[in-house]
Parts: sequence; C-alpha cells; structure tokens
Amino acid sequence: MRNKSACVDDRLFAEMTGQTEAHLVSCRSRASSGAAELLIHKDAFEPLERLRNKASEAGFELAIASSFRNFDRQQRIWQEKAAGKRPVYSVDNRLLDTADLSDEELLWSILRWSALPGTSRHHWGSDLDVYDAAAVPTDYRLQLVPQEYEPGGPFADFRQWLDGLIANDEAEGFFHPYAQDTGGVAPEPWHISYRPVAERYWQQCDFAFFQRLMDSEAWPLSEEIAQHADLIFRRFVRLEPA
Ligand SMILES: [Zn+2]
Repeated sequence: MRNKSACVDDRLFAEMTGQTEAHLVSCRSRASSGAAELLIHKDAFEPLERLRNKASEAGFELAIASSFRNFDRQQRIWQEKAAGKRPVYSVDNRLLDTADLSDEELLWSILRWSALPGTSRHHWGSDLDVYDAAAVPTDYRLQLVPQEYEPGGPFADFRQWLDGLIANDEAEGFFHPYAQDTGGVAPEPWHISYRPVAERYWQQCDFAFFQRLMDSEAWPLSEEIAQHADLIFRRFVRLEPA
C-alpha cells in the first residue's frame, strides 16, 4: 500500500481533508442550544439517531460536543499551538512552556493532542465527541478530559454503557478508534466513529495521500515534519504502536 504512487481523486481528497461539506448533513444535538452548527456524514445520520434513541432508553442523553471539523479550523489550532498562542501539553498532559522546547519537542507534543490539519478523523464527518448531557447541569463546562469519563466522573456510567454496547456490536456501527494508548495519539473515551463510513476513508489514507497533503500546504514546523514524515504517518495517522 505504501508504494502506491497514485493518489485518491480530488473529490475524495477534499472529503478526507475537511475541504468540502457536500456530503454532510446537520446533526444538531437535542441538548445543544448553542448556535454552532454540527455536521455529520449523511450516511451516519440515521445510525446516530438510533444510537441516541438507545441512549435515551437507557436513561442517558447522548450529546455531541464536536462532529465535523473543517481543514481551516484544524489548521488554526495547529498554527496557534506552534506559535505558542494556545496551550501545549506534554505527552503526560503537563502544561508546557513552548519557549523552552526545541522544534522537534514542540512537534511531538502538539501531535499527541492535535491531529495535523488534513489528517483529523473529524474531517471525515464519521467521527464525533460525545457525552451525557443528562449527567451535568446545562451550564457545565465540558473539558473532554479522561477524568470526566473515569469512575467518579460525571460520564463514567455513560461510558460504561457505551463501551458495553460497542463490545457487544450493538452500537449501530460506532466504535472507539482511540481506545488504546499506543504512544501516539492520546486515548479519547469520548471519541466515537461510524465504521462503515470511516473505513472507506481509512483505506485510502495511505502514504501517497499523506505526501500529497504535505505538499499541498505551507506548514508551521514544516522542516521537522518533512524530516519525520514517515514516523508521523505511522504513529499519528495510522496509529501504529511504537
Ligand atoms: Zn474527537
């Protein structure tokens, strides 16, 4: 697969990198009263509704913190982190002073928590960050940190229910792509993915795709990225263990 010289067509490339919304529909969470529009891949809409209904029946209110994210938004996150205008955390989640870091240290620290623009699964429309709106007051400030989903946290019961559903293959096609810590991307118990859609993109997500992406933009830290392109691709895009 790595040797394939041909790359995906332009439409698919745009879908994989969050540069089109043509295949998306609105999936505004019942719990969300904010103005922000939530978009999801049209093929994942009905399965998500079924999952929401299952959650209600079990006494939860499956709410969406984040769904489709476009390329520009992910690029802004990256640029701000690389420029030290947004907090950067170490591999073990300590706040770092970016002035103390080499470019290479900065690169690995950002990658642990933020996908390189164009490689986020949130570009696909198949992936969502979810929580239980019934477990917290309406003015709760969601942080999306592991503690909220661990025993004692407000979403521990919701997580246990959802993980059980996934384990029994009853989650309407959704699964956790970041369940294990392989040393690359940090585990995210709140992140679920609709497999039938995600799998199509995942299969096209090869090194030729990654190179086309790298060649298409002027990146912050581009020298470091070019130097470690193969490792970044394996660890942070393909999620291969070290
Ligand atoms: Zn996520």
